[in-house]
Amino acid sequence: MAQTRIAPPAARNEGQWAFDQREALNGNEQFKQDDDGLNVRARIEEVYSKEGFASIAPEDLRGRMRWWGLYTQRKPGIDGGKTATLEPHELDDEYFMLRVRCDGGALSLQQLRVIADVSREFGRDTADITDRQNIQLHWIRVEDVPEIWRRLEAVGLSTQEACGDTPRVVLGSPVAGVAADEIIDGTPAVRHIVENFIGDPRFSNLPRKFKTAISGSPHHDVAHEINDVAFVGVVHPELGPGFDLWVGGGLSTNPKLGVRLGAFVTLEQIPDVWVGVVGIFRDYGYRRLRTRARLKFLVADWGPELFRQVLETEYLGFALSDGPEPPPPPTGRRDHVGVHPQADGQFYVGVAPTVGRISGPMLTELADLMEAAGSDRLRLTVEQKLVVLDVAADAVDPLVEGLEDLGLAVRAASTFRRGTMACTGIEFCKLAIVETKARATHLIGELESRLPTFDQPITINLNGCPNSCARIQTADIGLKGALAGGEDGYQVHLGGGLGLTSGLGKTLRGLRVPAEELPDYIERVTRRFDEQRTEGELFAQW
Ligand code: SF4
Repeated sequence: MAQTRIAPPAARNEGQWAFDQREALNGNEQFKQDDDGLNVRARIEEVYSKEGFASIAPEDLRGRMRWWGLYTQRKPGIDGGKTATLEPHELDDEYFMLRVRCDGGALSLQQLRVIADVSREFGRDTADITDRQNIQLHWIRVEDVPEIWRRLEAVGLSTQEACGDTPRVVLGSPVAGVAADEIIDGTPAVRHIVENFIGDPRFSNLPRKFKTAISGSPHHDVAHEINDVAFVGVVHPELGPGFDLWVGGGLSTNPKLGVRLGAFVTLEQIPDVWVGVVGIFRDYGYRRLRTRARLKFLVADWGPELFRQVLETEYLGFALSDGPEPPPPPTGRRDHVGVHPQADGQFYVGVAPTVGRISGPMLTELADLMEAAGSDRLRLTVEQKLVVLDVAADAVDPLVEGLEDLGLAVRAASTFRRGTMACTGIEFCKLAIVETKARATHLIGELESRLPTFDQPITINLNGCPNSCARIQTADIGLKGALAGGEDGYQVHLGGGLGLTSGLGKTLRGLRVPAEELPDYIERVTRRFDEQRTEGELFAQW
């Protein structure tokens, strides 16, 4: 990298490596300096899996194991009121969550069957589809991890850098390469990044996690606004189809939407630009406080002009072309649910499992149905949904019937089943304050029976704590777990959105809806919207 720095250092020592601020300023930075997180794999294989949970060193258990997709689960029976008062080890169960990365959301039939088998044999049948195109298994014992890796890796799956301060799963359009209205297929860039840079020690000690999204869909179907770097399909008037570059999005407790750099990136340029943006994050990112260590804080301090200048002069060595802004998506729905024509005359079938919750046996049955329908390709979406690709016209109806018999709604999916997401919550997450998945499932059932004819797009996202894994600030109705009078309750955010209604919702301060009143509250808000909305008006525009 060039020695001349265009950007000034932050006002105080933020641990910016570019300015030789290498001293570890907190415990996380210290353990990352002591040993690369990727190196924990050898200890898991050679020591921990043989000697058991008690043999795991604390800095591996609560730190480096994340570099291989492993988090300890929450010990059962500890209520949300104790989350903030207990020491981390008091919340640790001896079982792990294991996150399987599915870059671009892509899974083959063979990969699906292997995940199903692992879930059944080692994960007590658990399998949750996340809103970042991962699959999370629970109840994993450290003793079983090497065998699980062997099976996953034999079919090209990986848990490497699925968690930790690393480049996480690369999001891609679930209908990349098949959609009839696609601007450009970003799949080659997704593959290039994964094959060349995941597990690369140059990028395995970032200030915090780094999220990537690449989609050439006009529907903006990868939540690009809330990623650290995003490439959004656009047509340049002279250069043709390519991507618009966004940086610095992220939610959690300081939500910020990404900003455009005004730069046009060709498909072939994506890997270099990606390496440049990750390099800026590694070198200039703030490492002093975990709460300020995401790229969004650097982007907010620098602004888009300076960020682009540093990217081009210090990292790329060439100037990117200016490019146009992507047009708004054509509709307010981006979830792929239902039966849709592909460009090649076949169909893709979007499926709505309830809040992403599925199971090992269900995955096996899904694989059987896909095989019978002649499909070898499944995609996960950023709405905790599934898409079966490459279904011939005469195979669509039998597939849809089979899926719906299995409880996986396609044509029968209500707007509430399509639009509701929930994070992991207190069942397994050590940071959770309240329950989420079961409560969201109950809520969907209540809303379906109370509002059977309501069919407008609406997103309802439930989170178990302020961390926003299920994107509360960008939902029509965002529900953040918070105790209400010592009992489970939710703080409400209204009117957020992505795509056509991109923006952060408004927090209704002072309001905590007790858990048992949630169906009544959502019903009231939804009815009022339905009565007052004008033709075509979306919830976030209301
Ligand atoms: Fe856990 Fe909070 Fe994330 Fe939910 S939002 S999965 S409770 S950290």
